Amino acid sequence: MNSSFFQTPIDYLKGVGPNRADLLKKELGIFTFQDLLHLFPNRYLDRTKFYKINQLQRTSADVQILGKITHIKIVDQKRGKRLVATFQDETGKMELVWFRGHKWIRESLKLNITYVIFGKTNWFNGSFSMPHPEMELFSDYEKSLRPAMQAVYPSTEKLTARGISNRVLISIIQQLFLESKNSFTETLSKPLLETLKLLPKKEALLNIHFPQNQTLLAKAQYRLKFEELFYIQLQLIRKNLLHKAKIKGYPFSRVGENFNTFYKEHLPFELTNAQKRVIKEIRNDLGNNSQMNRLLQGDVGSGKTIVALMSILIALDNGFQACLMAPTEILSVQHYNGLLELCKNLKLSIYLLTGSTKTSDRRIIHEKLENGEINILIGTHALLEDKVKFKNLGLAIIDEQHRFGVAQRSKLWHKNKLPPHVLVMTATPIPRTLAMSVYGDLDISIIDELPPGRKAIKTVHRFDSNRLRVFKFMKDEISKGRQVYIVYPLIQESEVLDYKDLMDGYESISREFPISEYQISILHGKMKSQDKEYEMKRFIKGETNIMVATTVIEVGVNVPNASVMIIESAERFGLSQLHQLRGRVGRGADQSYCILMSSHKLSENGRTRLDTMVKTSDGFEIAEVDLRLRGPGDLMGTQQSGVLNLKIADIIKDHDILKLARSYAFEILKSDPSLLKPENLPIKNTFTQLTKYKNIWSFIS
Ligand code: ADP
Ligand code: MG
Repeated sequence: MNSSFFQTPIDYLKGVGPNRADLLKKELGIFTFQDLLHLFPNRYLDRTKFYKINQLQRTSADVQILGKITHIKIVDQKRGKRLVATFQDETGKMELVWFRGHKWIRESLKLNITYVIFGKTNWFNGSFSMPHPEMELFSDYEKSLRPAMQAVYPSTEKLTARGISNRVLISIIQQLFLESKNSFTETLSKPLLETLKLLPKKEALLNIHFPQNQTLLAKAQYRLKFEELFYIQLQLIRKNLLHKAKIKGYPFSRVGENFNTFYKEHLPFELTNAQKRVIKEIRNDLGNNSQMNRLLQGDVGSGKTIVALMSILIALDNGFQACLMAPTEILSVQHYNGLLELCKNLKLSIYLLTGSTKTSDRRIIHEKLENGEINILIGTHALLEDKVKFKNLGLAIIDEQHRFGVAQRSKLWHKNKLPPHVLVMTATPIPRTLAMSVYGDLDISIIDELPPGRKAIKTVHRFDSNRLRVFKFMKDEISKGRQVYIVYPLIQESEVLDYKDLMDGYESISREFPISEYQISILHGKMKSQDKEYEMKRFIKGETNIMVATTVIEVGVNVPNASVMIIESAERFGLSQLHQLRGRVGRGADQSYCILMSSHKLSENGRTRLDTMVKTSDGFEIAEVDLRLRGPGDLMGTQQSGVLNLKIADIIKDHDILKLARSYAFEILKSDPSLLKPENLPIKNTFTQLTKYKNIWSFIS
């Protein structure tokens, strides 16, 4: 678009002036013509239809009625007075009511002349009334050039109080269109517009503000949503492609002894097809000349660890070191023990480095890392310290990546001359739609298949009043040799309270499960790490029957013999956390159970969460519900991304448009990476603008 015109400060629009401009800036963030153009309506009032009085329904929808005022009166009420007009059409009567501005309104109302009234109706004492209707003489209504569907813009209390009503917004946007006549330019390419039958830009904008009818409104919305998502995807995909072209990685050309020996002789189980596919994807990446940046998504228990190990073996076969970083000490230790076990027949040197590694051991590890004696280093954030230097780090794997920030990830990069290949793994199921937007610059692999023979976890919801039966159930399971988790919420703000809950719970469990018969472990964040590890080990070895814990056990912990997960105050957990916790059981061959305990006091949202857990164990389905309940803003890892700034598209509802936009963005960049083809000029121009400004919609000028 004509950039100078749309960059004009809003103060210069006719009908705005300094006071209104000030309000628009402060309340709606509208500084320029362009900002105003992109103030998209929240909803529309359909004025294409007239209702008869006897057709009125008791809904909150705005309706439009044709009729005449037959009578006007003032009614005294407790506080002040109200003005009441009887309004009627050929089907019935209703009342129009005003609580303010009596005098002026009364003088302006005309009896027995046809009006068009518009507004919400109330139902009271057997008849309908409309408070403070918008009204217009039918003769004027017919003459005026009004849109059939009236936009309703976002507003604030201050705006309305200071006289910038919806009507005022409509009129200044009308003014903007009047002044901007030929300043619009197209921002999508001709082939795109033609193939997808999209409305031209100007028409789309006109119809988003002043839709002629439902069909055109739908088309306008479609076009603008597509455009918004298209440019986000274009940015992400371009970043990914540039990255691949520019950032060289170590090509791991060989698949050698470690990998082959392990694959042929020591694989503890047959890989699932999904695991095989993902390993192939990773092998392809590693064999390339560019650095791998891959996100591996797989539900809890889907078997990401073995994929990590096999990727590590490829790195080792090519003479490189590898590291595996996990967010907690417990998880690091578990990975360490797990890999030691898996690799026991391979001659590898594997070390563990965490916050609680002794200084003397640390020094040895640092030394061995630098001279290449260590093949695999596993650990927590401790790996990121500057002192930790590798001889030749070829692959860095990050487990449960959402626990680490982007900055931390990139720190791993700088441990070498060339950045290592990076594989981030997450069990937080991110809906594909969202993953495409948030992690669109990473390549994504998905393990969408659980190892065979897993029995679905039976999930039930029980109220606190049923606790005795739950205890009985626990005893039955324990008598069969199974182990049980009991998890209490831990929410930072109320740590003291949570701690008390946990300790109270522990006490009552201890009373119910006396030490003469039962062994109980306890695990919480306030314990020293040696104590935590000690308790965890006892539970892993099966020396204790019950593990009472806070959410410290949430991530990754693997005890196949544990078959019952009891979650206390389950209504206080988020869906993804509940799902993670449930994933701690169902890891062995036995039937597993998850019992969600709650009080009778449940919010609607809380109930939906519990119901969802009972209904499904599909992590992606759960993530979709979670997203619906909380909105993308709350999903981990999405805060920094542009997803939140979507102005018109909806990441969930517009899934199909997103997919389409992504595939077109990909195709265009593939065939014309620098957007040099003449047909792509509008895209190139828009894209250049876009990268200059903060948000997607600023590119328009
Ligand atoms: P996650 O993806 O949650 O990290 P893990 O890698 O910890 O899952 O695997 C969960 C459990 O499933 C482990 O006990 C692991 O040994 C087992 N497992 C993984 N892959 C398979 C497979 N293909 N067949 C059988 N068991 C498997
Ligand atoms: Mg894991």
